Amino acid sequence: MTAPGEIVYFEGRFVAQAEAKVPITTHAFNYGTGCFEGIRAYWSPRQERLNVVRLQEHAERLLRSAHILHLEPPPGLTVERVGEIVVDLLARNEYREDVYVRPILYKSGATIKVTLSGISSDLCIYTLPFGDYLDIRSGLRVMISAWRRIDDNSIPSRAKPTGAYLNAALASDEARARGFDEAIMLTGDGHVSEASSSNLFLVEQGVLVTPQATDDVLVGITRDCVLALARERGLQVEVRRVDRSELLAADEAFLAGTGVQIAPVTEVDGRTIGGGGLGPVTRELQDAYLKVVRGETDEWQEWLTPVGAPETAGAGRD
Ligand code: PMP
Repeated sequence: MTAPGEIVYFEGRFVAQAEAKVPITTHAFNYGTGCFEGIRAYWSPRQERLNVVRLQEHAERLLRSAHILHLEPPPGLTVERVGEIVVDLLARNEYREDVYVRPILYKSGATIKVTLSGISSDLCIYTLPFGDYLDIRSGLRVMISAWRRIDDNSIPSRAKPTGAYLNAALASDEARARGFDEAIMLTGDGHVSEASSSNLFLVEQGVLVTPQATDDVLVGITRDCVLALARERGLQVEVRRVDRSELLAADEAFLAGTGVQIAPVTEVDGRTIGGGGLGPVTRELQDAYLKVVRGETDEWQEWLTPVGAPETAGAGRD
């Protein structure tokens, strides 16, 4: 029996986690020059199997981030190959519970130069058992952060660079130090962008609203799921610029992301949102999303990749 997360993918091989070490001279360690993904896989008791959520889209975003950041992937690392490695890794770890998967494509070369081109890159992936990251039942109290969301012209917001998460960490730290659960970040010009590591949705008079991609949001894959589930239900959807005071006046608000799943927001900067509880639209979308990812329904099966037996035995280079 393998301990959860014991086997990782490192330098083209499946190895024990204790063996996956990088030297202190690694460029990514010095300058945050990597990009990463956060993927979830849920154990479905009904299907008796683990399903990875939107694996293809996560692999695509990883390689898109890499392209934007001049992180040339190792030869042969296609979207399909990333997907195969993730599935193989999960199978090798023999999970029968919900899991978080963390692929990182990073500048593995050793140079002191502050540059991106001409430095070798490598992929590593580790996994860990993962339940609810934030409370998704009772509602979050959030604050609008004094830290602004990184501007697309400073660090590309469509990429998911490791170094950029200093911005997210500053905001979420500030929120927690002040007794809040999470931070909402504004753009440099003061419009609502997103939470520290999830996208934001509002409900205003029955209309579902989320900030547009050009307001420095990471274009989230869960955000895409929410928009699809809302449109399927005939809800009116608006993807556009959102003002700060709109957030304070909303009937409902929630966060959406792989880690947070769908988490209702019931208070913003000391103002109660709607009735202060889980609103009807949030509840419906949260139920629908969790049913799909937990494999409790046959709808949206195209979002799930089942994990079977390990593709190859042993821990050899692939
Ligand atoms: N914004 C940021 C800054 C994030 O880190 C995340 C988590 N990846 C999200 C939004 C939500 O994206 P996704 O739904 O693809 O996990």
